[in-house]
Amino acid sequence: MRDEQCIFCKIANGEIPSSTIFEDEKFRVFLDLGPASKGHALVVPKDHYENLFAMPEDLLGEAFTTAKKTAEKMRAAFHPAGFNIVQNNGPVAGQTVFHFHIHVIPRYEDDGQKIGWAPGSLTPEAAAEICAELEKA
Ligand code: 5GP
Ligand code: ZN
Repeated sequence: MRDEQCIFCKIANGEIPSSTIFEDEKFRVFLDLGPASKGHALVVPKDHYENLFAMPEDLLGEAFTTAKKTAEKMRAAFHPAGFNIVQNNGPVAGQTVFHFHIHVIPRYEDDGQKIGWAPGSLTPEAAAEICAELEKA
């Protein structure tokens, strides 16, 4: 399952070279060309799935296990102070490449990055309404 137009299909399957740090029959893990920090890597399935919702659940589990192994390798090599594991779905959420991928972003003290959101507030009424809506869905 490949998409001829998809850059990550080409990278994951070796048609376009990448700085690969791990590869098996289902995934390629390679360095992000626009890294947030030293070691920022992408876990990419070799088959084309647009996003989280398109991913088969067993493969999704393996993708996150691969992300963990990648983070363990980074930890051994670079001793970061923490990690962000990021997975964007949809343009509004920051997805720019529409082939599922997990960002593994090592974090270092004073790395100057801000990965997050502006916190709002949650009233008990709003929380009850949200839970009720979700129950009906
Ligand atoms: P998204 O914004 O979809 O969550 O993440 C896409 C990521 O892919 C970005 O962080 C971007 O820097 C990276 N990226 C885009 N094109 C390429 C490429 O051709 N090679 C590599 N190694 N990374 C890429
Ligand atoms: Zn693809």
